[in-house]
Amino acid sequence: MAFFYDTHAHLDYDDYKSDFAAVLARAQAAGITKIISIATDLASSRRALALAEKHPLIYAAVGWHPSNAHEAPADIRPELRELARHPKAVAIGECGLDYYRLPSMSGAHGVAPSAEDEIYKQKQAEIFQQQLEVAVETGLNVIVHQRSSFDDLFAQIQPFAARTRGVFHCFGESVERLQKILGLGWLVSYTGIVTFKNGQSIRDAVAATPLGKFMLETDCPYLAPVPYRGKRCEPAFVKEISETVAQVKLCSLDELSAATCRTAREFFPKL
Ligand SMILES: [Zn+2]
Repeated sequence: MAFFYDTHAHLDYDDYKSDFAAVLARAQAAGITKIISIATDLASSRRALALAEKHPLIYAAVGWHPSNAHEAPADIRPELRELARHPKAVAIGECGLDYYRLPSMSGAHGVAPSAEDEIYKQKQAEIFQQQLEVAVETGLNVIVHQRSSFDDLFAQIQPFAARTRGVFHCFGESVERLQKILGLGWLVSYTGIVTFKNGQSIRDAVAATPLGKFMLETDCPYLAPVPYRGKRCEPAFVKEISETVAQVKLCSLDELSAATCRTAREFFPKL
């Protein structure tokens, strides 16, 4: 059986509280040999590291998600540096910019909506900048979350592009944007969206991404692949994702396993 890694899972979420051992057992039975639990803030980073200490197949990314940026202290760097030193902290993230739901859309009031949006975006940019700095300092790569923010995000990573590397997780953009990312020497990773009936544009991006330039992930508990679409997602479902990706890449599961796992071990040297 071909083995795979789940390079992006939110194992610290309450979604797995009741059956965590069974989730891990199903992952192992499906040939998933390493899982990176991705943090969304500092408390989540500590939970991910605790899981990594307890389970040999689990590793952690430590960081702060842009959608929670407004809750972040002014400077997350001192604590993040400490967490990043952990032997099983393999990356910084997830971090980035997310303009999908801006304050002006939620009906929250206080200041003029446009000013409120600017404050929200500014805080995201500050927290992202701090994480890029810690990535450079610690020699860890970054796991990038980008939603409705590509141009701003791409501009912000430019000064760091030669000093750290990143993976645009859950890639769902055009082939043109894919080429910009690969042009920096950065990577992308693909989720269960590749299996969706309406996922043809993602499959086109997969087809355009050479082996060695992408990794696989679930982003669980979100984005369960077909035939589990709409249900809680879990790391075992990398199997279904890998089957679709192998079909698109016209390669065997063994070739896909070798390429994606090697890419992950190079990108996350502590894995
Ligand atoms: Zn995520």
